[in-house]
Amino acid sequence: MRNWALAKQSGGKFLIRIEDTDRERYVEGAVEVILSALKWLGIDHDEGPDIGGPHLPYTQSERLDIYKKHAKELVNLGKAYYCFCSRERLEEVRKKNLENKTLPRYDRHCRALDPRSAELRVKAQESHVIRLKVPESGVTTCSDVIRGDVSWENSGLDDQVLQKSDGYPTYHLGVVVDDHLMGVTHIIRGEEWLSSSPKHILLYQAFGWELPIFAHLPVIRNKDKSKMSKRKNDVSILSHRDRGYLPEAIMNFMALMGWSHPEKKEIFPVTDFVKYFSLERVTLTAPVYDIDKLNWLNGQYIRALNDKELSSRLIPFIPSDCPKNLVSQLIPLVKERLVTLKDFEELTKFFYRDIEVDHSLLHKKSNPEQVKEQLTESIKIIEKMSDSDMTAPRLEQLFRTLASAHTWKPGQFFMMLRIATTGQMATPPLFDTMAVLGRKLVLKRLQFLQ
Ligand code: ZN
Repeated sequence: MRNWALAKQSGGKFLIRIEDTDRERYVEGAVEVILSALKWLGIDHDEGPDIGGPHLPYTQSERLDIYKKHAKELVNLGKAYYCFCSRERLEEVRKKNLENKTLPRYDRHCRALDPRSAELRVKAQESHVIRLKVPESGVTTCSDVIRGDVSWENSGLDDQVLQKSDGYPTYHLGVVVDDHLMGVTHIIRGEEWLSSSPKHILLYQAFGWELPIFAHLPVIRNKDKSKMSKRKNDVSILSHRDRGYLPEAIMNFMALMGWSHPEKKEIFPVTDFVKYFSLERVTLTAPVYDIDKLNWLNGQYIRALNDKELSSRLIPFIPSDCPKNLVSQLIPLVKERLVTLKDFEELTKFFYRDIEVDHSLLHKKSNPEQVKEQLTESIKIIEKMSDSDMTAPRLEQLFRTLASAHTWKPGQFFMMLRIATTGQMATPPLFDTMAVLGRKLVLKRLQFLQ
């Protein structure tokens, strides 16, 4: 979202690239999920695997030749070298590192091989990887827009693998080559990638390419500051959609994570985010995934919709047993109380499903005799009404008159009526609810309790 906003505000391009070279982590259908999530949020892209663009292909597994060519180029430049070490040898190196408590890195055994003989071994199809020749001294510095300069001693860095023995690039090679070739100017990613940035910067330098702008954002945390686990917290965008959140509420919520509106607004359109977002205004404090805040925002956005728009957003959440012609009458009754679109069912089910009445609640503020009398008198009133009489103002007038004629406390009487006709203590306004329930259903429910 941040990359997208920066691209929009600066007249740049936002591209989507599929990084699928790690076959062990490949998930079938994941690309479609990401594309539909972005589409739902309204984050449109200028280039990508689905729409094409000037840097085709946008899927890394279709770009293997490009990475091979670039890895070879670094070997030719003397910036990288072939490594023929067996798995067993690398395992021994690892053990020695552990024993001597030295840095866990490759011992650079093959770095000293004669390049020509190495080339011959490659031609003879000996199994090999390609490693970067990391400078033995000096420092590598990442000028992070949010964090300032972060530096690493080169002597502490590993001769990272660029191309694996199966010919696939490592993530680091793939991402640097593609970012350069595709003209990516901003690398904005989570802080867990900060430790990889010297690897990437060394690669840019080895190729002699201009460095992009780096920004490592703080990772989102739970309210108790613990790290969010993807397993425990269902934070995927599409799951929010399915739980009844509006895309504009999610965008507003995400915008507020680690950033604040210059006018301190809590609710603002995404166009404000595109206009005002700047990496310099991102805080280093870990943003919090605060579900209460998201719920509040979502409710605000729901209430800002007109009934017609809300009705169309509700379509996937209307239960199959809810009569379609009832929906437009129910919306104004529940709009104020919807936190998510999914709440519609819970808030309206008594309009079209059988109810259960808790008798202890019915009698709570009164005694059985009085409740019985109240039910009997109420039935008489409804019986005398016609279907078209059943409007909220008319019902209110009749039932208030009835309460005062019998000196019943309106609070008790109306709550009794509410529970009797809906089975619930909290509903939309009582007389509006009775009007929508209709004469027949109200009578049936009152008579059942009598
Ligand atoms: Zn080696």
